Amino acid sequence: MNKQERFTDAHQRLLREIESEARDTVSWTGRATYSDRVMLAMASVPRHEFVPEWEMPFAYANRPLGIGHGQTISQPYIVAVMTDLLDLKEDDRVLEVGTGCGYQAAVLAETAGQVFTMEFVPELAELARLRLRRLGYRNVTVRVGDGYRGWPEEAPFDAIMVTAAPPEIPVVLGEQLKAGGRMVIPVGLRNETQMLYRCVKQADGTLSKEGKLPVAFVPMVEGR
Ligand code: SAH
Repeated sequence: MNKQERFTDAHQRLLREIESEARDTVSWTGRATYSDRVMLAMASVPRHEFVPEWEMPFAYANRPLGIGHGQTISQPYIVAVMTDLLDLKEDDRVLEVGTGCGYQAAVLAETAGQVFTMEFVPELAELARLRLRRLGYRNVTVRVGDGYRGWPEEAPFDAIMVTAAPPEIPVVLGEQLKAGGRMVIPVGLRNETQMLYRCVKQADGTLSKEGKLPVAFVPMVEGR
């Protein structure tokens, strides 16, 4: 039995758990189910390829895991709900801030057209780049950089996903969204409950925002 087969049952169980947690959180998110495209992406991406050896047995557990450098790979349910809230279309261009191990980037790559993902820690960016290439994700570009600056060379984006929590929504990221573009971002301070916001860029350039779910993310670090 190869690795892939060994994880099949656990992966199926995880998908059912995500569906169940989606129902349980509908009063927050307003969404009792997630789109077929998102669930298909959750079914396609091999999470065990993104976790360190010592976390392998828990690769399909519905919880965050350590990936070294004091960083984490997000809980699969959170990855699913955040991806769903972006309402991605197949040719959308997406910016992700906080590549980490690249798992969320892979899910975005299965759901959208082109993914630009940036990570502050060079070692993590390099590992994610190699891993995503090995797994055949050709529509993802990984770059070392500070998410507070966004990615002006590739802007504007149809959607932006931020997977580390800033104390408030960085204005620059709103500027790098197209009109009608969506942004999903956790906002708040470390050790306090943060709020996951879904923002939409309006025709007049302002950003509407709606709190969707209390969450706990690592802080979005400033200035490098
Ligand atoms: N998206 C990841 C989870 C990332 S955890 C997943 O799929 O599991 C958050 C990541 O954001 C960490 O790797 C951290 O190093 C990175 N980060 C924190 N502040 C940042 C910043 N200002 N710019 C870019 N990346 C940042």
